[in-house]
Amino acid sequence: MKIAILSQDAKLYSTRRLKEAGEDRGHDMRVVNYLRCYMNIASHKPTVVYNGTTLEEFDAVIPRIGASRTFYGTAVVRQFEVMGVFSANESQAISRSRDKLRCLQILARDGIGLPVTGFAHATQDIDGLIETVGGAPLVIKLLEGTQGIGVVLAETQQAAKSVIEAFRGLDVNILVQEFIKEAKGADLRCLVVGNKVIASMKRQGAEGEFRSNLHRGGNAEAIKLTPEERSTAVRSAKAMGLRVAGVDLLRSHHGPVVMEVNSSPGLEGIEKATGIDVAGKIIDFIAKNGAAGATRDRIPY
Ligand code: ADP
Repeated sequence: MKIAILSQDAKLYSTRRLKEAGEDRGHDMRVVNYLRCYMNIASHKPTVVYNGTTLEEFDAVIPRIGASRTFYGTAVVRQFEVMGVFSANESQAISRSRDKLRCLQILARDGIGLPVTGFAHATQDIDGLIETVGGAPLVIKLLEGTQGIGVVLAETQQAAKSVIEAFRGLDVNILVQEFIKEAKGADLRCLVVGNKVIASMKRQGAEGEFRSNLHRGGNAEAIKLTPEERSTAVRSAKAMGLRVAGVDLLRSHHGPVVMEVNSSPGLEGIEKATGIDVAGKIIDFIAKNGAAGATRDRIPY
């Protein structure tokens, strides 16, 4: 197959590994910087142009769209879809997963376990909002944050009130969430490809840190999931319409709860922690399913 990896940087670990895994399996792999592409939309023959050439020969694309590039990146993926090219993740599903609130609303609709969560912008009723999630301790998050930045643990009602007031002054959207203390600063990253979890790791935050993000000094090890965790991860990816997803879970007293579903999960942490050839499994999935042609997203949100 001829497969394009839509990535801003050919040197990134995940991009390199996908290229390598594809080439090992005899596919013709090319890294395409989607920001440098332009599209011909208003024609009978939609095209994507890159470095002066029209890209029309690809059977499949693997989107690796940066979080800050969702708008243009998903437009390029959509253009390939219009051209009938198979995408490992469809543009709609990527957009959906990039909005944390939309993601939680979709998962809730499908009855998937979540921490009790409230959402606000400029409420005057801060006590009511805190009560919605069962009072302090609680976690307050900026909707637009990544890598654990803008995630605050408020241990007391008073601390929660001041943080929410401060965020209100900043004119931002915030999530207020039940604190899953029993997770003990760890989360589970489940790599879903197709309808299967193909690798999973436990990330543990640094000493005294409730956030498990590796960027914040956490460490990772392979872990065996329970059947319930496995099915929660698979159902979450499916609910979002993602074929390739990194589903983050916390182990709570009321079963696994989903934190986030990521449409471009990083491969370095999980491949190193588990020794599994995740890139190869993604390529195998595309080789098996990509040839069937583009399937259409049917999720109504
Ligand atoms: P980001 O998307 O910025 O990584 P997350 O919402 O995933 O932000 O939060 C970062 C980390 O903080 C999570 O991986 C988890 O370890 C911890 N965390 C987040 N929310 C909660 C919560 N409600 N209870 C306990 N720990 C949490």
